[in-house]
Amino acid sequence: MRDDLLQWIEVDLEAIRSNLSVFRGLVPDTTQLMMVIKANAYGHGLELVARNASALPIDVLGVHSLQEAERARQAGWAAKIYVLGYIAAQQVRRAHELDVDITIVDETMLNAVVDAVTTGAALENQPLRCHLKLETGTHRQGMSEEEAARCIRRIDESPRLTLAGTSMHFANIEDTTDQSYARRQLENFCRLTDRLKAERPELVRHTACSAAALTLGETAFDLIRVGIGAYGYWPSRETQVTFRNQGHTGNLRPALTWKARIGQVRDIASGSYIGYGCSERVERDTKMAVLPVGYSDGFDRGLSRVGHVLVRGRRARVLGRVCMNILMVDVTDVGSVEPEEEVILLGRSGDETIDAAEMGALIQTISYEVLARLSQAVDRFAVPNDG
Ligand SMILES: *Cc1c(COP(=O)(O)O)cnc(C)c1O
Repeated sequence: MRDDLLQWIEVDLEAIRSNLSVFRGLVPDTTQLMMVIKANAYGHGLELVARNASALPIDVLGVHSLQEAERARQAGWAAKIYVLGYIAAQQVRRAHELDVDITIVDETMLNAVVDAVTTGAALENQPLRCHLKLETGTHRQGMSEEEAARCIRRIDESPRLTLAGTSMHFANIEDTTDQSYARRQLENFCRLTDRLKAERPELVRHTACSAAALTLGETAFDLIRVGIGAYGYWPSRETQVTFRNQGHTGNLRPALTWKARIGQVRDIASGSYIGYGCSERVERDTKMAVLPVGYSDGFDRGLSRVGHVLVRGRRARVLGRVCMNILMVDVTDVGSVEPEEEVILLGRSGDETIDAAEMGALIQTISYEVLARLSQAVDRFAVPNDG
């Protein structure tokens, strides 16, 4: 099946299952587990994850947009979906039809939602489930206490809406081993929601991203929202250090392997310049492999001259600039490399590994961005094969 592809991504469903079970083990049995599949499931393929999700230990899929919710439904996920980002007024009826929970970030948005569900033909579904995003210190989305009180009143007045949950998002929990700011945010959240939860036990309170779930157990409440950790990456070094210092032992294993086939193998004479801009001059006779992968696929141009790929379990450095669809690597020390041979762009080969955190560090970014920018045009396959 992959014989005719020049590059592809393999997603290890067993790794995802094992990563999720680490999170499952950290929270009470009554806490639900959401797997966040925004940004094409962090590059792993939204449809691939959604169609296999019923075999994973999760309760909810989290998406950013309604378009992503639509794709998850089409891929066969019939259980709960929360839309974590904005939805436009024109999308509200579709959200209701798709039977997803939505996030209300302010009163303006709620007013638009109320208008959308009260005008036009009555919808037969259950009331549209709304989650209020509360301001606790992140100052991105989120509403004040007074605004939340007014929103709750409006939702209670509308027979077509129901208050399903309240949420918040931490500002710096993955950026530091100092949890004081996160704890203050948590106190704010409790102050804003403790009474409400006592009055409405069915309310789903949720605050925790991966880093919070891994390092600050009190953030679990009724549901945790696991993104990067499900895919096998630590949110940061700091999170990993804090987790270990707390005596936890669970391991996360990257689920994604990005592979390509060598297009061409060439001998380059010492002293020759390689590629655009003549940015690199080889100082020895060099065996060079040309790969049919470039920055349009998600192999960042910042990796020019500094990135590596794995060939036969050995590191091969990028020569010259990464092009739009092509890159060149030095395979002089690898041995007799052949065209069509598989190489690893992200993943493990022999004893060597290149992961998205390492790749991100070379270009001053985080694993999240490396994964999220893997082109949707690259074919994805589940392993073991999901048929
Ligand atoms: C993306 C996102 C998450 C997941 O964060 P990770 O650090 O990837 O676990 C959780 N909650 C919200 C609101 C998000 O947007």
